[in-house]
Amino acid sequence: MGLTFVPQTIPAIVSALMLVALIAFILTRRRSGTSLPFILLCGAAAIWCAGNALEHNSATIEGRVFWGKVQYAGSQSLPVFWFIFATLYSGHGYWLRWWRVALVALIPALTFVAVVAYPASKLVWVSYSLYDDGTFIESIIVRGPLFWISAVAIYTFVVAGIAMIGVVAFRSPTVYRMQAVTLLFGALVPLIGNMTFVFGVRPLRMDTTPVTFAIACLIFAYGLFRFRLFDVTPVAREAILDRMTEAVFVIDAQGRVVDANPAAIRLVRQPLSELLGASAARRLPFWSAIVRRLDKPTEAPETMVDEARGQAFELRVTQLTFNKGAAPGAMVILRNVTDRWRAEGALQRANQELSERVLELERRNQEIVLLAGLAEQLLSAADRDALVDTVATFGPQLFPNEAGLLALRERDRFRVAASWGGAPRVGESLADGYAGTPWLPTPNQIAVPLVDQEERIGVFAIEAMPGARHPEALRQLTTTAADLIGLALANLRLRDRLRDDSLRDALTGLFNRRYLDAAIVRELERANRSHHPLAVVMLDLDQFKSFNDRYGHAAGDSALRSFGRLLSARLRATDVACRYGGEEFTLLLPNTPLEQAARIADRLREEAEATPIVHGGESYPPLTVSAGIAIYPEDGQTAQALLDAADAALYRAKSGGRNRIMPWVALPLAGPTVRRTLPSAG
Ligand code: GH3
Ligand code: MG
Ligand code: MG
Repeated sequence: MGLTFVPQTIPAIVSALMLVALIAFILTRRRSGTSLPFILLCGAAAIWCAGNALEHNSATIEGRVFWGKVQYAGSQSLPVFWFIFATLYSGHGYWLRWWRVALVALIPALTFVAVVAYPASKLVWVSYSLYDDGTFIESIIVRGPLFWISAVAIYTFVVAGIAMIGVVAFRSPTVYRMQAVTLLFGALVPLIGNMTFVFGVRPLRMDTTPVTFAIACLIFAYGLFRFRLFDVTPVAREAILDRMTEAVFVIDAQGRVVDANPAAIRLVRQPLSELLGASAARRLPFWSAIVRRLDKPTEAPETMVDEARGQAFELRVTQLTFNKGAAPGAMVILRNVTDRWRAEGALQRANQELSERVLELERRNQEIVLLAGLAEQLLSAADRDALVDTVATFGPQLFPNEAGLLALRERDRFRVAASWGGAPRVGESLADGYAGTPWLPTPNQIAVPLVDQEERIGVFAIEAMPGARHPEALRQLTTTAADLIGLALANLRLRDRLRDDSLRDALTGLFNRRYLDAAIVRELERANRSHHPLAVVMLDLDQFKSFNDRYGHAAGDSALRSFGRLLSARLRATDVACRYGGEEFTLLLPNTPLEQAARIADRLREEAEATPIVHGGESYPPLTVSAGIAIYPEDGQTAQALLDAADAALYRAKSGGRNRIMPWVALPLAGPTVRRTLPSAG
């Protein structure tokens, strides 16, 4: 295997040496995902170049065949490594499964095995001979079918790699386009070189393909190192950037992403190949904040919240100058501070809750003070008006954010007595037959009926403003206030009733004698002032004792009640009807002359006579009534004189046959003279 030196092999030798140097250079620098396939690619090219040089420097055919076979180790593995490199570079690394790589390597491997181990099969080489023209020994190789199959496969992979890089070059509007274009340009060199060789153009009378691949590798290396920021920065990028948990993006002066570490790639969920060269404004989160911070790089880091993901990031932006004099780019660092952010949020919420509680307690305290004031004033209210005034004063203080009203029953309707905050005005009536239905058609209303002895005497209602106060707290406060108002109202009614009881007769509901004594004095004064007559009428039921005896005391009571009702129903509002005692009744008829009084009394008499007594479902015969009338001022000047005169007149009616009306008659000492007679009509 004697070696000579053929000058034509100088390019191949130089190429091999340069590739070895390049590999050594890369190994001393950094390694990234594409480093290993690139080193292998260079290694394959180096083996190919070295084998080629040694083949042509071998004097014997055995030597030539041997080095020819060695070259196959390079030439068959090179396209596989190229394909892997191109796949990784273009961001399709995920495609590389071991079985796919094996499939790609299948034909080249078979070719290598066939030429090295089974040369007799003549699958690759049919014949190998030398042609010596005295100046140069040329290898004449007749190629077998597997060579051509392998050539097709190799071209396929090389072109596929070029296509992938071409897409990157086409898609990246950046420095990376330059890089990809450089790679593309490099890849075309061997393609053209090999094509010319295969089709018979042989400037050096030997295969120059390995040299063209070596040139390609050098161009690749230039492209990779020249254009990639961190490849020219002599820092252990992997040790720092790649292992950082912070996401780091590097942006150039044109706002394009020129680098991103693995954390950044995970954050934006885009492959590096797509990210590189893309517009940072479109790909990076919190872009407006980044732009804002570019102008004030010294500012403290800012916490940005990604609402969609429920994560928080601390944003830091640092200006970078790539080359002296060049426009600056920026480094964007995003640190995930979600845990801290959540803890801060929880703390803030707890704080807020606490201050809300304190506020609520303060409000409760104020409410208690107000309620105490309300209770005190309500209980000391002398009458309804004072009570209503108290509610009108305290209501808006207790319920400042609400509308409210107090409505009191007047016969069959509820009339608003106090209101505030846009509730129906004072004097307005609530719906007829109000039975607790809301005054406004909203669900926020609380209406508390005010009840006294099962009688609905009023309504206290509050219209809540949504969100202004806790609904349950409002309900409690409303019912407490309503209870106080209801109690005060019931108190007033009780007081009125007690006062009434002492002046009224329990059986008939008419005033009693005590009241009469006061009323007659009052009416006399009034009559005196106005110069109007006052009629005093004494009535007595006829034969009441025998009615009692015949039908029983209870039936007698019913008769008394029935006559009491008759008096109440028939008299004017200004008239006073009293039960004088037993079955005797007294009427005070202001501004009534004798004739009119007699007419009124006689009508009562007629009606009593015509009305049967109903008791316990049974009907009893009607009772008749007798009456005597005295007129102020003619028949007496004092209350007693008038009552005596009326009583005397009554006596005359009784003795005259009962069931009749008699005026008082003065009896002169000398013989009876009727001072006046009753009018005939009646
Ligand atoms: P005269 O026509 O003369 O008035 O006869 P009289 O029976 O109505 O009169 P008298 O005074 O003899 O009887 C009155 C009776 O009225 C006696 C008493 O038992 C009865 N009386 C008085 N107060 C009540 C009462 O509250 N209820 C009942 N049931 N009877 C009463
Ligand atoms: Mg009687
Ligand atoms: Mg009597």
